[in-house]
Amino acid sequence: MTVNLLDYDLDGLTVFCEGLGEKAFRAKQLYRWIHQKGASDFAQMSDLAKSLREKLTGIAHVSPLKVLTEQKSSDGTIKWLFDVGNGDAVEAVFIPEDDRNTLCISSQAGCAVGCRFCSTGHQGFSRNLTTGEIIAQLWFAEHTIRKVKGTEDRVISNVVMMGMGEPLQNYAALVPALRTMLSDHGYGLSRRRVTVSTSGVVPMIDKLAQDCPVALAVSLHAPTDVLRDDLVPLNRKYPLKELLEACERYLQAAPRDFITMEYCMLQGVNDSPEQAKQLAQLVKNVKLPVKFNLIPFNPFPQSGLLCSAPKVVAEFAKILQDAGIVTTVRKTRGDDIDAACGQLAGDVQDRTAASERMAKRRVVMMQKQSA
Ligand code: SAH
Ligand code: SF4
Repeated sequence: MTVNLLDYDLDGLTVFCEGLGEKAFRAKQLYRWIHQKGASDFAQMSDLAKSLREKLTGIAHVSPLKVLTEQKSSDGTIKWLFDVGNGDAVEAVFIPEDDRNTLCISSQAGCAVGCRFCSTGHQGFSRNLTTGEIIAQLWFAEHTIRKVKGTEDRVISNVVMMGMGEPLQNYAALVPALRTMLSDHGYGLSRRRVTVSTSGVVPMIDKLAQDCPVALAVSLHAPTDVLRDDLVPLNRKYPLKELLEACERYLQAAPRDFITMEYCMLQGVNDSPEQAKQLAQLVKNVKLPVKFNLIPFNPFPQSGLLCSAPKVVAEFAKILQDAGIVTTVRKTRGDDIDAACGQLAGDVQDRTAASERMAKRRVVMMQKQSA
């Protein structure tokens, strides 16, 4: 069993190299080859000593994910479905925009939170991705697109953890992956350009503030505990008051930031003018700098839910805006390829069914998540 070097952040790789009797700067060189140049073959790494390359060949590898499908939209959105073994598949979506290129990636195969409006939640939890499997989505997308464009310049400017899974329930694997995204020797992304989206795992929000305070998006979806208990079952463990207090504490670690509140618009469930007012009051009470991102719901049959009409979404947004809260409506991307970040469908036990069902989804993509 050899070691997958994608599992390491720079500190981890340094310890690994030191274990081989190599100096720390060798780890830096190796890390750059892997993440900045997209190399997976040690023979390519021309400035590493031949003896080290030979040593690595026997004990380590850089393991990409197997691509099951790749779909390209006429608007430039690209969606990949990756095989992570045992019938599990996860997705990543590349979304080019005028001022940024965002990659949406997954943190788990399935999800244990079980939100009512989420197809990943409906399929249940299969397993946590490893650090290597999380970062491999970025590694693959970045270097594949560079090759296609014939450029050595960085392509992906923003990463959002909004694919399958609850990133803060896979904390140990998540943090080294985030560090590689931020590292100057890795992907060199600023911490405001990396967003962790969470359904509200309060203790881990606090931990992330200490370990790696990247941009935070919170999936709020309801103005009251009664409704949120029903839509996002994790609310029963960490109710709104505790969640908002954790958000306040998070911003103490990143004082000039704001928190993005995601709100999936569900017809007749959470979209009334009264609920918009309650929501405005809720965030005003805690004086939290937030931006709301209203997400038109992507329906799927088992949910029994419908998306709010565009007029209702616009009215809801206006009430929040009139209350002085910056509010955007997430725009739809990749319509023609039915890409769907944040709602990967599919039976994780059945890869074919997963990819087919996913292909039937529409994607609502995040917009203006992070500066
Ligand atoms: N588990 C994390 C991140 C993945 S979900 C979280 O819940 O935040 C990413 C986003 O997609 C979340 O805001 C989630 O609420 C949203 N989402 C899930 N299912 C959706 C659907 N069917 N339609 C629209 N957005 C959905
Ligand atoms: Fe999990 Fe997020 Fe889906 Fe809820 S919305 S089930 S937390 S992936």
